[in-house]
Parts: sequence; C-alpha cells; structure tokens
Amino acid sequence: MGIDEIDLHASLKKYFGFSQFKGLQENVVKNIVQGKNTFVIMPTGGGKSLCYQLPALMQEGTAIVVSPLIALMKNQVDAIRDVSSEIGVAHVLNSSLTKTEIRQVKSDVSSGVTKLLYVAPESLTKEEYVDFLQGEKISFVAVDEAHCISEWGHDFRPEYRNLKSIVNRLGDNIPLIALTATATPKVQEDIIKNLGITDAKVFKASFNRPNLYYEVRPKTQNVDGDIIRFVKQNSGKSGIIYCLSRKRVTELAQVLQVNGVSAVPYHAGLDGKTRSKHQDMFLMEDVDVVVATIAFGMGIDKPDVRFVIHHDIPKSIESYYQETGRAGRDGGEGHCLAFYSYKDVEKLEKFMSGKPVAEQEIGNALLQEIVGYAETSMSRRKFILHYFGEEFDEINGDGAEMDDNTRNPKEKQEAKDNVVK
Ligand code: ADP
Ligand code: MG
Repeated sequence: MGIDEIDLHASLKKYFGFSQFKGLQENVVKNIVQGKNTFVIMPTGGGKSLCYQLPALMQEGTAIVVSPLIALMKNQVDAIRDVSSEIGVAHVLNSSLTKTEIRQVKSDVSSGVTKLLYVAPESLTKEEYVDFLQGEKISFVAVDEAHCISEWGHDFRPEYRNLKSIVNRLGDNIPLIALTATATPKVQEDIIKNLGITDAKVFKASFNRPNLYYEVRPKTQNVDGDIIRFVKQNSGKSGIIYCLSRKRVTELAQVLQVNGVSAVPYHAGLDGKTRSKHQDMFLMEDVDVVVATIAFGMGIDKPDVRFVIHHDIPKSIESYYQETGRAGRDGGEGHCLAFYSYKDVEKLEKFMSGKPVAEQEIGNALLQEIVGYAETSMSRRKFILHYFGEEFDEINGDGAEMDDNTRNPKEKQEAKDNVVK
C-alpha cells in the first residue's frame, strides 16, 4: 500500500488538529497502516494513543483497542467522538451496556462506521463478543498498557495473558500493536513472547528526562527537618512528597503545616470529596505541596511540578521513574530527591513476605535494583537509563551533570577534603 506523507499529515490535521507528529509517531503510524505488527515503547505523555487512533481512522474496518481501565476508555472515546461528526466512530464494549446499547454498537461495527472499539480484556474473552467479532472486518488489534501481560510489570493482569488466543480466533493475520510506557527489557520480552509478535518492528523512544535533577540523601532521624528545609528553600514552588504509609502522610502534612508550609495530605483512606478537594487545591495552586501515597499522581498533568521528594524509597526503579516523572513536565526545573535508609528496604521486604513465592522473588529482585540506584556512586541518570536498556553518555549526554553523583563525585570530594586538611 502506498502512503505518502502528505496523506498522513493531512489526516493528522483533519482528525486531531495537529500540524506535526510527536517523536516517533509518524513512523509508527506508517508501520501500522502497512498492516505490520508493531511494538511501541514511549514514556507516559509521549503520545501513544494517536499511534493507533490515526491509522484506525484512516483504514477500513474496526480497530479493537484493549485497555485495562474503563475510565481511560471512556475518556478516549469521548475525545475521538469530538473530532468526528459520527458518534458511532468510537465505542466501548463492556458489561455495563444495556441490550439496546449493545445492539447499537454491533450495528455500527457491522456497517463500518465504528473505527475504534475499546474493550476490557475480560470482555474480549466473552463468547458472545468473540462470536460477533469473528464475522466483522477488523483492521488491527491494539493492546494498550501492554505491560499488564507481564508479572515483571507494575500492573500484572492475568486476563491479558489470553489475548493472543482470542485474537487468533477473530481472524487470520490480524496485525497486533502493543503499546507501553514500561521500558524494562524483561517486560518487553514477556510482551513479545506472549503476543507472539517476534516479527514486530519495535519503536522505542528515549526515556531520558534531561531537565530532571536526581539526588539521594541518607535518611536520618531528622528526615522531617531535612524535608522542611528543602521545601522552605523552594518556597512558592509546587512539589509532591511521597510517603509509603498513610499514617506518615498525615503526620508529615501536619508537620509541614505547623512549620508554615502550605501542604495537604492525599491518600486512599481519605474520603473521595477530601481527595478531590486536595487534588484541586494543588492543581489550582492554592497549596504548594501535596504529601501523598502512590495513590496520588495517575493522570495528574500539572506541568510545573518543581520537585518530587521520596520520604521512603519506592519498590522499584520503574515506580521511581514514574513518580519522579511528574516533575518538570514543562521542560523546566524538576528536582527529584529521595531519602534512603536500608531499614526501609527491610520494611518493604517484610511487606512482601506474606505473598506467593514467585511474586516475592520478583519483588525482591526489583527491590535490589532500587537499592543499587540509591547506593551507586555513578551518574544516576546513567543508572536509570541502563535499567531501561538505554546507553547514556555521562559526559556529553543530554542531562549529564544533572545528578548529585556527577556534580560532586565521591572520590573528588574526599580528595578535596584531604587538601583542606
Ligand atoms: P501516552 O498514552 O503515551 O501517555 P497520550 O496518548 O495520552 O500519551 O498523549 C499525551 C498528550 O499528547 C495528549 O494530550 C495528546 O493530545 C498529546 N499529543 C499527542 N500527539 C500529539 C501531536 N502530534 N502534537 C501535539 N500533541 C500531541
Ligand atoms: Mg496511554
């Protein structure tokens, strides 16, 4: 099939109003339009949805999009409907639909109006839906958040394991598109193996965030004092402080307030109204700081978060990358400061001790990696990117010198101390 660039750009403009592709999008779209298996690895916010939405809108037939969260699917469907005159262009197929709604979806798919059909993996396993989809023209199947396939990912979902066999039943040679923001080689291997897409062309964007400064400090008895000092030095700037436990979140938020810092707590134990109030206060800049558990952050798109502090070391490098990734979205300053004590690692190990053995082994391996990060004397950016299978030049790379170890190398520090003596 011949696709010229003018066509792609015209469609990009027509459907999304953008005049330019972002990063690898154009090459991904070309690959998908050619009917090839495709694997897209891009950080959060990289623009993965468009990679399959645009080809779906341009092609005949219906693209099936597998996505784990109903809320995410609804948002995407609404956004696609906004750009089309046809409301049936995108649908969600799930168990919450009425009989009439299901009939409408089926008729829109059959008539070719529906270009994107979002399904949860557990719906796709339903015999009734498989029967129906078998008779329809499917342009491709996109598996969003594909790391859910892997136990090494941060969000393993067993239903994702059955996708390949279902796709096989839907027709011969239906192209598969996998997308994820998880860059670890182990997870990637699992995805490729599980979906049987060893022939897929892999598009991997860089995970380097050159504007983020990475720092680790030892955690002492006076960690609260250290945090207060840091926040006061950065007063007026927006920041997130992550704690492991809800109790710590509440305490630290209070300590900050008492010390004149405008801060609110956020964790899953607070009622929904308080949570959304505190989140809004942070987004509207009525407060500078949110002290939170990891319940806070998914889908938070505040561009000018200037620091992310970890009061406790997180459970993996990947979580650390995701959580610190909320800083400096606008390309401006973003200080990522983690407090580290081996005692916290032991606490996390204890947390896991009640879990199945296989899960414990994976959890411990991930934990050892983050310990390595905390204890390393090399460039922290190099360490993180190496974990994601990416080579980083710590002398000339983009963002070199943007971490404590590179700025103040440990040996040099000692040598200097000696000279002073
Ligand atoms: P991801 O799924 O990779 O986290 P999304 O698909 O949600 O990212 O896209 C992130 C944001 O980038 C969205 O607001 C989207 O509208 C925007 N975006 C995507 N592609 C482009 C583009 N070519 N030009 C401008 N903005 C884009
Ligand atoms: Mg996405």
